[in-house]
Amino acid sequence: MTEPVVIATWPFGKIAVETAYPLLNQGTSALDAALAGAKAVEDDPRVDSVGFGGIANSIGTVSLDACVMDGRTLACGAVAGLENIRHPADVARKVMEKTPHVLLVGEGARWFALQSGFPLASLHTPESVAAWARRQPKEAIPTVPRGGPDNHDTVTVLALDQKGHLGGVCTTSGLAFKLPGRVGDSPLIGHGLYVDDTAGAAGATGVGEEIIRIAGSFYIVEQMRAGKSPQEACELAVKRVNATAVRRGVHPASVAFLALSPDGRFGAACTIPAKFQFALGRAGKIEMLTAKSIGPEAP
Ligand code: ASP
Repeated sequence: MTEPVVIATWPFGKIAVETAYPLLNQGTSALDAALAGAKAVEDDPRVDSVGFGGIANSIGTVSLDACVMDGRTLACGAVAGLENIRHPADVARKVMEKTPHVLLVGEGARWFALQSGFPLASLHTPESVAAWARRQPKEAIPTVPRGGPDNHDTVTVLALDQKGHLGGVCTTSGLAFKLPGRVGDSPLIGHGLYVDDTAGAAGATGVGEEIIRIAGSFYIVEQMRAGKSPQEACELAVKRVNATAVRRGVHPASVAFLALSPDGRFGAACTIPAKFQFALGRAGKIEMLTAKSIGPEAP
């Protein structure tokens, strides 16, 4: 029997780990446990960047992105730009299980959710509406993504179950005040999440544009396949984000990565602005850890 492990992004990842870790210890599969953990965060209105209570886009709509991936089979599913549905990660799982597709977007994703029995719901809370009104941007089309530390975050949950299988879930309301129709890394397999039992699992959080640019999660898993430890692989991905920013003449954005190997080793690294904390459930305890921050190398 494999010793279960679960890791999840940010301090609110603790909510996910507190839900997923006991399930893993009872024999629940990695994907089911990760999904239960992610759902607990989606349901928590205090988390203003995931699910219910997420800060809205530039026109005041909460638009959700999520994906799931099963490391046994590479089965995966995703939704992007999903509105008025409280559990986007669950819908992503239904996309995986019930359709021949991987990604459904916008109105089609909502139609599919309704057909699958998900109820329509308002995702606003009085607090999220007030926060949106207080910080609403002046310009209709901002020229730089609003990647400030208070304007985004994602819960990405990576789990290893007792049978030695990996599963992962990534769910977010994306960047606050994003343009309508903007999709980040989180619902994109290989960017916000990638999971393969034969190499490892990786997930991302932070400014999605920078994660997409380097295909972050797939890059990390392929580094593990080539023999790097999860920690080395995450650090290489952050270095690539930094190098890309240098080439583009900008400061590296807030970006962080997590990784988990099939034998239960984990890694985490972030760019300096991310100051990334994550939650870990392993060996009978749940703890909060801080990732290594890596700055751009001097030219
Ligand atoms: N990656 C998410 C996005 O770009 C936001 C975050 O994780 O901070 O939509």
